[in-house]
Formats: sequence, C-alpha cells, structure tokens
Amino acid sequence: MLNFDLTDDQLALRKRAREFAVNHVLPVAWMYDERDEIPLDLLKKAWEAGLMNGDIPKSYDGMGLGLVEAAIVTEEIAAACPGVATSIFDNSLGVEPLLLSENEALRKRYLPEILNNFKLICFATSEPGMGSDVSGIRCQAEKDGDDYILNGAKYWITNGGIADYMTVFATTDPKTKHEGIGAFLVERDWKGVSSGKAIPKLGQRCSNTTALHFENVRVPAENVIAPPGEGFKLAMKTFSRTRPIIGAFAVGAARSAMEWAIDYAKKRKAFGMPISGFQAIQFKLAEMYQKVETARLLVQKSAWEADQGRDPTIAASIAKFYATEAAFETVNDAMQVLGGYGYTTMFPLEKLLRDVRLLMIYEGTSEVQRVIVSGHLLSAYEPAMPSLEKVPMRRKTAVKEAAWRCATCGHVHGGDAPPERCPYCFAAKGAFHKVWPPDRASGD
Ligand SMILES: Cc1cc2nc3c(=O)[nH]c(=O)nc-3n(C[C@H](O)[C@H](O)[C@H](O)COP(=O)(O)OP(=O)(O)OC[C@H]3O[C@@H](n4cnc5c(N)ncnc54)[C@H](O)[C@@H]3O)c2cc1C
Repeated sequence: MLNFDLTDDQLALRKRAREFAVNHVLPVAWMYDERDEIPLDLLKKAWEAGLMNGDIPKSYDGMGLGLVEAAIVTEEIAAACPGVATSIFDNSLGVEPLLLSENEALRKRYLPEILNNFKLICFATSEPGMGSDVSGIRCQAEKDGDDYILNGAKYWITNGGIADYMTVFATTDPKTKHEGIGAFLVERDWKGVSSGKAIPKLGQRCSNTTALHFENVRVPAENVIAPPGEGFKLAMKTFSRTRPIIGAFAVGAARSAMEWAIDYAKKRKAFGMPISGFQAIQFKLAEMYQKVETARLLVQKSAWEADQGRDPTIAASIAKFYATEAAFETVNDAMQVLGGYGYTTMFPLEKLLRDVRLLMIYEGTSEVQRVIVSGHLLSAYEPAMPSLEKVPMRRKTAVKEAAWRCATCGHVHGGDAPPERCPYCFAAKGAFHKVWPPDRASGD
C-alpha cells in the first residue's frame, strides 16, 4: 500500500530537528560562515539532542533509525544551514562503512565511543589527484605481517581537521585499481597522522574541509574495515546510502529559499502593488514549490528503498542530481525575487546560493550521477513496451489482422505475409518483422 504520511514518531522527530534548526543553528550560521569556522559547540549540541548518528543500530544502544528519518532530520537542519548539516551528517558518512563492514569487533569497539563520547569520524576516499574516479586511489596500504602501513594523502575531507577517527580508503597497489582498495579505521592521534589547514571555500564555510596526511601509519589488523579488494564496493555501497541525504540537504535549502521568496514577494511593492501580484513572480514561486515537493519525493523514495533492504543505487543517484540541481535553481530564482537585496550579505539568499553549489559536486558530481543512471538504462532497465521494430502501429486502421513492420522506415504492412519490398523505402522483405499478433512465446 502506498502511504505518504509520516508516522507520529517521524513527526515528533521532525519537530525536534526543526526546533533545533530554528533555535540553535539559524542564529549563528552567518557568524560561523563569516568567520569561516566550524561550530564545534553546535555539533556537540546536535549530538546531545540525539540528532547525530541516528543510524547506529539499537543492538549497539543506538537509535536504530532509518534513512527516511535521517532525511527528515537533515532537511530541517539544512534549511537553517547546509554547512552545519554537512558537518553533522558527516558522522553518518564516516560510520556507514563500519556499519556495512564484516568486522563486528571493530563496531563493538568504536560505535559506543561515537555514541557516548561525542567522537567524530570522517570519510576519506578523495585525494589531491582524484575524486570521481575512486578506483584511482593512490594512498598506499602496504601489508606488514597482519598490519597495514599507510602512506599518502587525502584531500577535501569534511571534518578532516577535527575528526577523532577516520575511515580511510587506500590501496595495496594503485595499478590493480578496484582490486587493491581496502578501508581502514585510523585514529587521529596515531603516529604519522596529520591534517592540513582548512581549505578556503566559496560556501559551506561552517563545515571544515582539510587534507589528511599519512606517513608510515601502522594500522593494526583489527582496524581493517574492509580488506583490499573489498574497499571499492564498500565505498560505492556507502554512497548509495548517503546520496539520498545529500538530496535532503538540497530539499531543506530550497524550501527555505522558497519561503523567504514568498515572504518578500508579499511585502515588497513595485508599480503600486506587492510584487506577489505579478504573474512572473507567482510562476517562479509555483515552480519553486514544484521542485521542493518533487525533490522530497525522490529523496524519500530512495531513502525508503534503502530502509527496505533494497539496493537504492539508482534511486539515490536520481534523487541526488535532481534535488541538488533543483535546489540551485530554486535558490537562484529566490534571489531574483528579492532583487538587489537578495544579492547582499544582509539577506540569507547569497549564503544559501554559495552553500547549495557544493551539493552538485561532493559525494559524486551531477555528471557522475548521470553516468550511473544512464549506465543502468542502457544495460539493466527493463522496458514495458515492445522494442521499436515490434510496435504494432498503423495510422488509418487499427491493427486487426497480421501486421509486419519495416525495420528501416517503420511502415506497417497488414496481411498474412510481408511485402516483397517496402513501398516507402524499398527495403527487401527480410527487413519486415511480424508485429501482430504478438508472439506469446516471447512474452511480447
Ligand atoms: C567541500 C567539499 C567537501 C568534500 N568532502 C569530502 C569528504 O568528506 N570525503 C571525500 O572523500 N571527498 C570529499 N569531497 C570530494 C568530492 O567528493 C570530490 O570533489 C568530487 O567527487 C569530485 O571529484 P574531483 O573534485 O576530483 O573532480 P574530478 O573527478 O576531477 O572531476 C572534474 C570534473 O570532471 C567531471 N567528470 C569526472 N569524471 C567524469 C565522467 N566519467 N563523465 C563525465 N564527467 C566526469 C566531474 O563531474 C567534474 O565536473 C569533498 C569536496 C568538497 C569540495
């Protein structure tokens, strides 16, 4: 049965997240943005309020919430500040490989720390020389007895400067591409681990982004999240479960932009009337709402698929590139509604525009999502319609008797046998396929 209602628990969670966003995030977001500083105290408050790592299962004393709930919480926080939402959600990104891992002992050791002691964990696949092409990892993991020795660098790592733990993807041999990649849980205070200066960014300045550097870092065997050969698949599985949430950032940001545009349009007068009276503005608002609603449906569907234990890869990619691009368009349109004021730093739109721009880049660019979805369409997608050469299409009369379609020009010939030549394109008889009656055996 299809049901779009949130449960009472989900509604209560949304209320809690919304109150946190409005009362705690909104009043400080611009200050941290201006200072280009991570609001660590706010992350701690989110953790205290039970708005961080809801995904840790109950069997580890976590909240055991699903991705649908994660999307609900994230939409609210991103509506106040996408950068803060990124910083908070990064702990779920860092933890996801551990949740998917076969290393139960490692979960038992680290999850209680994350749950009970406000420990932050980041996620590191990207490097200075690669981002989209995860199989191109160069950071080295050299086997030494049962341990691994890490050498190399990671780049663009959210919370890289503050995380206590790091989920690091590295390879035993870059030449073997996917086959050499493993994942390792590294602690910040281990010898040889360091992070770079915070990378200056256009937006999402409330989230900390740095490089990580590993110099002869010994990772004990028990800290292997995925052995070499399993890391690439683990990274892809992780992205399938975290991309819906990037979509939720987009929904929250777009929703705020729309609400502020509505508010302004009702109050601002031009040519003797509120600008909300102009159809050009009304249509912009309508399209904003359409995008927010559509994006939320896609996000929730992909999150729901993951919660049902299905592979959400395609739905997650569709949700990510639709929602993030729709958010950018929505914020841009909202800025237009606010006219010159929208372009100033005295109104919230310019920060939102800077913040949402990132959503189309991290966790797989929009182009990468299109590669994934088009790859699926061209290989695994199952069509409902017969193939083109089998479409029983006649223009003047319905197809009743046997019919044959010319594979070259599409002409449909009625009769027991195909014509010797196509009367339109002169293709030979062999070019005709029987399109009616359907061949039951083939299931057409
Ligand atoms: C603020 C920020 C935070 C980040 N946080 C993290 C993090 O916590 N952990 C982490 O591991 N990474 C993180 N990243 C890295 C992010 O995931 C990468 O930047 C992203 O995947 C793109 O990689 P790239 O920058 O190397 O671009 P490239 O891969 O070099 O791509 C450059 C351009 O080429 C296009 N392109 C590449 N391949 C294809 C293709 N096959 N077909 C079509 N177009 C293609 C891309 O879409 C893009 O437009 C973060 C990045 C930023 C900016």
